[in-house]
Amino acid sequence: MADLTPEQLTELKQRLLDRYNHLRRDIYDELKKIGREEDFKDLAGEVHDPGDASVADEIFEANIETINTLALELRRVEEALTRLAQGTYGECIACGEDIGYPRLSVEPDALRCITCQERFEKRQPVRPTTL
Ligand SMILES: [Zn+2]
Repeated sequence: MADLTPEQLTELKQRLLDRYNHLRRDIYDELKKIGREEDFKDLAGEVHDPGDASVADEIFEANIETINTLALELRRVEEALTRLAQGTYGECIACGEDIGYPRLSVEPDALRCITCQERFEKRQPVRPTTL
């Protein structure tokens, strides 16, 4: 376990749990949106020509993108909670060094120290699609 006080751990865990519940609710709401056909038809309107249909597709895809982004964050928060339970929370998954409280307090679900995170993001210039 990284060098965190019990108070810091409790605080970070609480924030992770709050975020976890919040994300689950958001994802559920988004799924409900696309699960209801009437809402989808309202957004798209009556489809008169292929142009209208593609507007509908865009709305649908934007929603999927939102869900993907939320699901990705949920996975990261889940991973952090698992690591808390395992006692490896706060250690960088890439180099094993302590991530440190200053960084964790900004980003409780951080999995890498700042050095490794920058290296990781450079490898994925568009946006991260994995943990
Ligand atoms: Zn590292």
